[in-house]
Amino acid sequence: MLGRQGQTVMEVARENGVSIPSLCDSPHLKSFGSCRLCIIEIDGQAGTPSSCTTPAREGMDVNTTSDRLWNLRRGITELYVSEHPLDCLTCTANGDCELQDIAGEVGLRDIRFDNTPDCADVPIDRSNPFFSFDASKCIVCSRCVRACDDIQATHALSIDGRGFFSRIIAGADVPFMASDCVSCGACVDECPVGALEDTVERSFGASDSWVRTTCAFCGVGCQFDAGTKGGKLVTMKPAADSPVNQGHSCVKGRFASAYVHHSDRLKSPMIRDSTDDEFREVSWDEAYSFIAQRLQSTKDQYGPDSIGIITSSRSTNELNYLGSKFMRAVIGTNNVDNCARVCHSATVKGMMTVFGAGAGTNSLEDIDVTDLLLASGCNPIHGHPVTGSRIRRARKRGMGLIVADPKDTEMAKMADIHLQLRPGTNVALYQGMAHVIIRDKLQANDEWMNTRTENLEPFKEMVSEMTPSICEQITTVPAATIEAAARLYASAGAAMSVHGLGMTEHSHGSEGVMALSSLALLTGNVGKPGTGINPLRGQNNVQGSCDMGALPNVLTNYQPVTDTKVRESFQESWGVKLAAEPGLTYPEMIDNSLEGKFHALYMIGSDIAHTDPDNTRVQDGLSKLDLLVVQDIFHCESANYAHVLLPAASFLESDGTYTNGERRVQRIRKAIEAPGQAKQDWIIVSELAEYMGHPIISSNNVSDIWDELASLTPNFRGISYARLESAEAIQWPAPSIDHPGTNVMHKEEFSRGLGNFSAPEFIEPNEQASEDYPFILVTGRNLFHYNSGTQTRRTGLSEFLNTDLLEMHPKDAARLGFSDGDEVMLASPRNKIKMILKLSEDVRIGNLFTTFHFPEVGVNSVLSSSADNLTKCPEYKVQAVAILPA
Ligand code: SF4
Repeated sequence: MLGRQGQTVMEVARENGVSIPSLCDSPHLKSFGSCRLCIIEIDGQAGTPSSCTTPAREGMDVNTTSDRLWNLRRGITELYVSEHPLDCLTCTANGDCELQDIAGEVGLRDIRFDNTPDCADVPIDRSNPFFSFDASKCIVCSRCVRACDDIQATHALSIDGRGFFSRIIAGADVPFMASDCVSCGACVDECPVGALEDTVERSFGASDSWVRTTCAFCGVGCQFDAGTKGGKLVTMKPAADSPVNQGHSCVKGRFASAYVHHSDRLKSPMIRDSTDDEFREVSWDEAYSFIAQRLQSTKDQYGPDSIGIITSSRSTNELNYLGSKFMRAVIGTNNVDNCARVCHSATVKGMMTVFGAGAGTNSLEDIDVTDLLLASGCNPIHGHPVTGSRIRRARKRGMGLIVADPKDTEMAKMADIHLQLRPGTNVALYQGMAHVIIRDKLQANDEWMNTRTENLEPFKEMVSEMTPSICEQITTVPAATIEAAARLYASAGAAMSVHGLGMTEHSHGSEGVMALSSLALLTGNVGKPGTGINPLRGQNNVQGSCDMGALPNVLTNYQPVTDTKVRESFQESWGVKLAAEPGLTYPEMIDNSLEGKFHALYMIGSDIAHTDPDNTRVQDGLSKLDLLVVQDIFHCESANYAHVLLPAASFLESDGTYTNGERRVQRIRKAIEAPGQAKQDWIIVSELAEYMGHPIISSNNVSDIWDELASLTPNFRGISYARLESAEAIQWPAPSIDHPGTNVMHKEEFSRGLGNFSAPEFIEPNEQASEDYPFILVTGRNLFHYNSGTQTRRTGLSEFLNTDLLEMHPKDAARLGFSDGDEVMLASPRNKIKMILKLSEDVRIGNLFTTFHFPEVGVNSVLSSSADNLTKCPEYKVQAVAILPA
């Protein structure tokens, strides 16, 4: 048999297709050697060692099957079964129980001992909405404990007691819901006997159909096998062969996709003449006719630039491409934008300026090899949980960690250095670090500077002003800490950077990303494995929606609309003349609507009436439109201002592709039928175009849409649906069909040629605390919900968190006379809302923190529409507010 250095006999056997029985072993976990079922005989060696702990050696003669081995295994199995319930026919693990399989394999027919499960009197723990734990079925193989430690890295489970009295406990022997368990499901998936049991699977029975697809929550892009039965989703099993999640998932991907079956789903097209009227259900033909007439009359009366589209970072690449094509080719305007505008548009701008490409430079697997991670303005443990676990595992192997965040997050607590900066001072922080690196001559060598970069001298001049003491005055991070962080980053063999919306959602977010990217350039930490600048994308297809040209100034893969050659190639393919001037961003569409200059909006899979700052102003803008078409799976907040509601299919009811935050294009595949008359997004857009007399697809095959856009986009030409059948999918750029895809960008040269040092001047945030509004509010996400909560609030996740809480430092609360759990008024010049106070030493004194998942709380109505000066990405992370008694 073939094996590799360091493998155990069990691993070699598994890879060579030889089955050795085991209960405690799992391909996803480190060897444990407790069940003793995987015993083997080795020629020339006494005894029967366990194969899962025996290293494989060259020339070893191993016997995995003999009468002696099967007798021993039968005896061991008998002991397990003697303490296990014998209710196999009604057990949900029936047919999927490893103990049952092994009992059959060893030929166990009798049990000579008393059959009384040790924990028969321990009540089943049903505290968690997604799974239960029945201690009486547990065989204490410890796979759940090790999954929690080695995969999820939360350490919520342990073994209490010894010998016959040992049992699995959560936390300090509390119900699962009261422990640190984050409900990722890794323990459920490892349990060999159904002691840990998926509650939905329990009620449905085993799935009879499986379809590989991609998670539709965050931008990590985990792959799953969706198990269905009778047209219903039964379970989402994380894919072990995916390089993205390697068989792991978070609570949302694993358990929260059942929203697709919620009774609130939109099932029929609906129209109304005016928002004062009630909606009435109509046929698709009537809905298309209504939209087509209003779009045409708006275009005739006010011109094409009075119309726009907002596509979705939640929907597929194919939809985003077709949405852009619809607006540009059918209506004749570049007023095309998507909801990435309010999250990572500043990343695109900042990285484009420095590297010439606005996409993550490296891959998630680089976290496994890097020496140091600089995590800025992100809390992956909540926002990108599978990546959060990967970081935790890397930390265990000794990876260094610097965290830059105003909040003392879980990630910050486990860091070597926490740069707890004042909100809105990112530019100063990274320039201060660059100052130290240049001063101490820690930058990359001259060859790198001379051959790979430009504008080093103006950069040096700019950062020369940002001494550690000035940086401390601006950021409040002690000068010594800034110096230590700079030295740690610059001296690492390979230093990798990840960042989130704490970098981008600022009045100078783009400049913050430029400063961070320039730091990587300065130290040569780009273009190599384990380095680079890697934005953690919030929604599942933030990367793809922008790649598809659903932006007002670019076509696919950021090809400028102002470039005549680019326009010519699209004009030739689309058969129309295209507008040469960039269109409006969607905040500009709202501004223009308020001024009576913008009249019709087609909104697909976005809910700006809830998610955008100063949302009463956004709602005013929407209510002034002559036509608002909302295409979604639920009646979202924005639907209240719509004239047309179009029922869309969910990701489980659709075909297409998403692109995750590491540029990996991955398939989603239809697993179930959409409810009622709901249709896939791309079908709706293409049918509407046809209704308007301008067909925009050549066939009813979604792969043809990909082929068309790939033919227009040099970096995508090597990607096809056929190639996407591989579990690893492909990371763009892949310029030819024989190109393997790109896991590390900018290896030989940057997309713009030379890396461009950019040192924008530090400018204070637009929002400043004042006497009337003395607190700075920062908003962010919680593990158990997702953006506007439209999906997650319609699942068991509401049992974990059912309202947005306002976090305040206990010293501020004491000064103001507030206690934990008090209802207070959060006030700004825009609005006042009531919120429940949660005291937490994790927030800085003078700061507040909250999430924005619950529209009834209305957090976004308090926020200002202040935005990044270059991209209009809102300044969600710095908001001046006051706290008043409720
Ligand atoms: Fe889905 Fe993101 Fe969770 Fe992965 S980490 S399962 S992509 S929500």
